[in-house]
Amino acid sequence: MSTSDELEALIRTIPDYPKPGIQFRDITTLLQSADGLRLSVDGLAKAFAGEKFDLVAGIEARGFILGGALAHVLGLGFIPIRKKGKLPHVTLSQEYALEYGVDSVEVHADACAPGQKILLIDDLIATGGTAEAGIALIRRLGGVVAGAGFVIDLPELGGAQRIRDHGVRVETLIEFAGH
Ligand code: AMP
Repeated sequence: MSTSDELEALIRTIPDYPKPGIQFRDITTLLQSADGLRLSVDGLAKAFAGEKFDLVAGIEARGFILGGALAHVLGLGFIPIRKKGKLPHVTLSQEYALEYGVDSVEVHADACAPGQKILLIDDLIATGGTAEAGIALIRRLGGVVAGAGFVIDLPELGGAQRIRDHGVRVETLIEFAGH
């Protein structure tokens, strides 16, 4: 089996979660598998091989698991990009649009130094709104988002292209059709 077939087989799809029409791509089954976790983290490391980063940033919560493991593999430190109200020190906050309403993500104001090269990680990219907010935060800190990696791409939602349009290199390991 190819790596992408193996990853795909380890992801569980929950129809109509959290609401009708959404096919929720549940990675808990992937994380539970030693092979699945290793293939995901090593796959992202390989996709960006040759690129030099200073830090990995992960988006709460699934981006912490993959991004934390990847930072360890790459020998780098880790920046948590968290949901509003969770970080204890001085923060920057960035709003992004949801289908109904807005949400926001936050980062510590001293999470990176100007000019540092950051690799942004999450489990899945759909519309790209969450990743775009993460990129905006890092850029407001003066960081350079030198790559954005996701295990899963939902290409019909256009998120990967949206992030590429910001001049950021995007790498994904597998694709699923639909929402
Ligand atoms: P977006 O901002 O639209 O790119 O959505 C990406 C974020 O929402 C990621 O943190 C994903 O974990 C989560 N997400 C969006 N759509 C799905 C889906 N179909 N299955 C699982 N997670 C999803």
